[in-house]
Amino acid sequence: MNSAISNIIELLKKTGGRLGLEQTYPGERIIDRIAVSDKIIRFKAIIKMDDGSAGIFQCYRIQHSDTLGPYKGGTRLHPDVNLDEVKALATLMTLKTALVDVPFGGGKGGIVVDPKKLSQSELERLIRKYTVKLLNDIGPNLDIPAPDVNSGEREMAWIYDEYRKHRELARGVVTGKPVELGGSLGRISATGAGVAMIAVEAARDAGMPEKFRASIEGFGNVGVYAAQKLFDLGVKIVAVSDSSGMASDTKGLDIPALIRHKEISGGVRGFGDKTLPKEDIVSIPADVFIPCALGDCIRKDNASRVAARIIVEGANAPVSLDAEPELVSRGVAIVPDILANAGGVIVSYFEWVQNREGFYWEEDMVAGRLREKMIHAYRKVREYSIGEGVTMREAAYMLALKKIARAVRVRGIQ
Ligand code: NAD
Repeated sequence: MNSAISNIIELLKKTGGRLGLEQTYPGERIIDRIAVSDKIIRFKAIIKMDDGSAGIFQCYRIQHSDTLGPYKGGTRLHPDVNLDEVKALATLMTLKTALVDVPFGGGKGGIVVDPKKLSQSELERLIRKYTVKLLNDIGPNLDIPAPDVNSGEREMAWIYDEYRKHRELARGVVTGKPVELGGSLGRISATGAGVAMIAVEAARDAGMPEKFRASIEGFGNVGVYAAQKLFDLGVKIVAVSDSSGMASDTKGLDIPALIRHKEISGGVRGFGDKTLPKEDIVSIPADVFIPCALGDCIRKDNASRVAARIIVEGANAPVSLDAEPELVSRGVAIVPDILANAGGVIVSYFEWVQNREGFYWEEDMVAGRLREKMIHAYRKVREYSIGEGVTMREAAYMLALKKIARAVRVRGIQ
């Protein structure tokens, strides 16, 4: 299997070729530039563990492109984090911010760690050390971290505080921070809320009933809020999985009760009418499948098992690109990650704007503006995909590339 980054580069070449970028912008080498990250930062963070021993952790921050604004992207804490994955995620951020028109570039961070194996004070020391090592590379106008898998408000508060100690009080140095430190109302639910909006639009466009059936992989920040929003709209959530297992019910799961179950037991396992292995989530009969966990959950070897007619990519790169042709040939519509999960970076942008203004918005205003941007981007991608006869992923890449190419041209080469 190709790595996620090589698949993304291949698709950039294909869509760039289709746009005729080399002919429109001769000599600018747009795709060559975007295929390579601006800067790769890798280092090890050494911290004192609670038992006095040294903990050594591999860390990354990739600054992919600042053509459209400061580098922007989450911080992933996971034992499987690796350089190729962080590069791929940073590249997707560049495309995502371009597609949804927020004035940021793309970046991503990662630490190779299983945070569940660390005490809270060990994790805090690690995040603070990570921040200290990046002091010269992050900043509100340079590179702005945010949450990703296994990081959230608490970790963003530590980054903010460490930066404040060593540099300046700059609220905009991270987004996704607690409201008490200048976070935005509605940021915590933004990615999941945006995913839910897109799922509803895509189901409507496919002629599905309002109360369609959905299945969701991953029940963390993105999955929980997507599930909650869809549940509130009357969508029947027939299965939810997380790293503990799967909960399913053909009549539809009671999502608020599932959230309480997870708070008590730590996972979704043991809820609902059947206990099935988490890997079976892809084949549960549902109209819309919403992966909200890690990359590559649908691969060449399990693509034929996908039961849904629509996949809405809440996660980044959940459908490996070599699995896509089989799904497309079966008529499965895929709403790509750079569109479907853009709600997080959109409200991160709103947070950054509020930090600069020092004027904070009501939650209704955040939600309304998020909705406006998500639906506008969805319509734009869908119409372009129909007009050009390409998949929604190709359409999204093409629209993002066009915007980046125009900016590269007007900036010029020195
Ligand atoms: P999270 O850490 O809050 O949740 C991840 C969830 O995935 C957990 O419930 C975990 O148990 C589950 N999971 C892990 N392995 C699994 C497996 N094999 N099968 C089923 N479930 C599994 O992370 P998150 O912030 O919700 O991010 C999820 C995805 O969404 C990632 O791909 C991330 O890059 C993407 N994303 C997140 C944001 C954001 O604002 N948090 C924004 C855009 C994209």
